Amino acid sequence: MNSEILIELTYLASAVLFVVGLKRLQSPATARAGNALASLAMLLAIVTTLVDTQILSWTGILVGAAVGGIIGGIAARRVAMTDMPQLVGIFNGFGGGASALVAIAEFAANPGIGMGSTGVTIMIGTLIGAVTFTGSFIAFAKLQGLMTGNPITFPGQNWFNLVVFLGILFLSVASLGVAGLAAEPIVLFMVFLGAALVLGILIVIPIGGADMPVVISLLNSYSGLAASAAGFVIGNMVLIISGALVGASGLILTQLMCKGMNRSLANVAFGGFGGSAGVDRAQIGKRPVRSADAEAVAAELGYVNSVVVVPGYGLAVAQAQHELRKVADLLEERGVDVKYAIHPVAGRMPGHMNVLLAEADVSYDKLFDLDEINADFASTDAVLIVGANDVVNPAARDPQSIIAGMPILDVDAARRVIVMKRSLSPGFAGIDNDLFYLDNTLMFFGDAKDSMASLVREVRDLG
Ligand code: NDP
Repeated sequence: MNSEILIELTYLASAVLFVVGLKRLQSPATARAGNALASLAMLLAIVTTLVDTQILSWTGILVGAAVGGIIGGIAARRVAMTDMPQLVGIFNGFGGGASALVAIAEFAANPGIGMGSTGVTIMIGTLIGAVTFTGSFIAFAKLQGLMTGNPITFPGQNWFNLVVFLGILFLSVASLGVAGLAAEPIVLFMVFLGAALVLGILIVIPIGGADMPVVISLLNSYSGLAASAAGFVIGNMVLIISGALVGASGLILTQLMCKGMNRSLANVAFGGFGGSAGVDRAQIGKRPVRSADAEAVAAELGYVNSVVVVPGYGLAVAQAQHELRKVADLLEERGVDVKYAIHPVAGRMPGHMNVLLAEADVSYDKLFDLDEINADFASTDAVLIVGANDVVNPAARDPQSIIAGMPILDVDAARRVIVMKRSLSPGFAGIDNDLFYLDNTLMFFGDAKDSMASLVREVRDLG
């Protein structure tokens, strides 16, 4: 078999592995294997490309893979689960930057390329890659607290961004030598690149910290499009396919997140939401609540037929999933039916709660999506909310609320509601939660891990 056919076949194999890997990410049970398959596909694709183009020796490939692998491994191991959106943000930024570099190198090699399909693709790849690069780093800085998480706005911002965008379109045409400008194409191209980098910053600064995970998912989709464009530029089939897969899946994820919050993408991009402006924070948590200790909560849970657990961001912060599992096991031993209600945007990324509960080996058939379980709350004896807040906030039913229309878990319909959190502080949306003040609600204050550990002891001691 000649080497060209072998290379095409290897590309085909990695493309198939990407698709199968992605398919396996659909369920937590197969997600790890899917991840491993997709990583293998990426390794195959990179090594094949490097061998094909003969730009690196085998030693160079091995050293590069080792250095990249070590950096990636350390970054992924050290990052806390709650900081995962930032990590994904940075990786997107590098992906976009790499695709832009491919397109830039191709332009530098052919400055007078003209408006043909390659010229246009170079411009698209550079533009999307550059926007993804700077936009992702701003998103990272906002989530990491390196800059304010509040929307940064100024009068006429959307118009200003539009003018910058139109300027970029003009510069891209001019760089290809079509506008008839006297300047050197490479100079025009550098101005075009600079403006694209600035556009990435301008697009992300007006978006509030609360919406950053959505932005990161959208930028993830952009990084895929940039990679696909780079694939067209250099005629690399597997880059086109993998880029398209990332582009499409990123867009689907973005749409799922918007649906989970009942927001349109336009509202996320231009709404300036996420700073909880207009909310009177001084009034939050000022009303009286009923609170209970571990002993009382154990009694509320241990003598009933059905308990639904609602995990939220606080479960991830406290890393209380293993203790939660112990409580659930003890309750089940007592004959209590225990289920878990999973809100699509509970935590800080889609699937966050599924991953946490999978870590504690909670069986998948006990996990129920919002649509599946909402009707059951009315016949549920007790709901145990662990570090969740916005996803159970009845304010979503109030048209005046900033979370109006967000689908919520209707936990207030249950006979008894127990809320495990440290204080009456608000959740991500920054607003008070009427659920805490209802007659059937008991607040169980404390760090979720400590509270859960004392609950394990108290449930064990029940007669
Ligand atoms: P929230 O952010 O609404 O609330 C989490 C609660 O956890 C806080 O009120 C906090 O209260 C409590 N908490 C924090 N640390 C601890 C701890 N150590 N022990 C016990 N409790 C703790 O979380 P939800 O999961 O209910 O909602 C997710 C929010 O994130 C939604 O607003 C959603 O729109 C948003 N979001 C989610 C995305 C996703 O993909 N999942 C993407 C983008 C946004 P206290 O300080 O009193 O302990």
